[in-house]
Amino acid sequence: MEQRIGVYVCDCGANIASTVDVPQVVEFAKGLPGVVIAREYKFVCSDPGQDIIKKDIKEQKLNRVVISSCSPRLHELTFRRTLASVGLNPYLMEMANIREQVAWVTENKELATQKAKALVSAAVKRVSYHQPLEIREVSMNPNTLVVGAGIAGIQAALEIANSGHKVYLVEREPSIGGHMAQLDKTFPTLDCSA
Ligand code: SF4
Repeated sequence: MEQRIGVYVCDCGANIASTVDVPQVVEFAKGLPGVVIAREYKFVCSDPGQDIIKKDIKEQKLNRVVISSCSPRLHELTFRRTLASVGLNPYLMEMANIREQVAWVTENKELATQKAKALVSAAVKRVSYHQPLEIREVSMNPNTLVVGAGIAGIQAALEIANSGHKVYLVEREPSIGGHMAQLDKTFPTLDCSA
């Protein structure tokens, strides 16, 4: 199937645009294989920003999308939903993080723009290999095994148990508590560590 990729480069207000030459990145993206449209927008995650993407998917018949903005941790789900809302498989999307990994780590505009172009180019290449995916549910045993009953193991076991799951906490020593249990008192409250 012919690749029809849309690229959206976000300014994030001044967060990205003050360090990365966004119009230059957009022009660069337009020349990449499979890219049929590339745009700059101030806040791509806003409703008007997402509407632009939806409109392009419908009118330009896009079958892949690259969002060049912040970390996927922040908005990957947002943009997956954007695609899904107009009937495009949500996994036919790739993000290039030009905020945390570019704009926020240098003041050198030229190098930042170069790196942003490299990340956009990589994302366009990568998205061209994406396949539509479907979410499947499988039955599983939610019981959890925590190995090691030091302070971290105990805390992990308690948190999992408090969220309603059965936990097996195993320890190779005869007693739990690890190094913590060997201490007398802890700073600054002088609590007995055991
Ligand atoms: S998509 Fe990310 S980079 Fe763009 S405006 Fe929203 S938070 Fe900022």
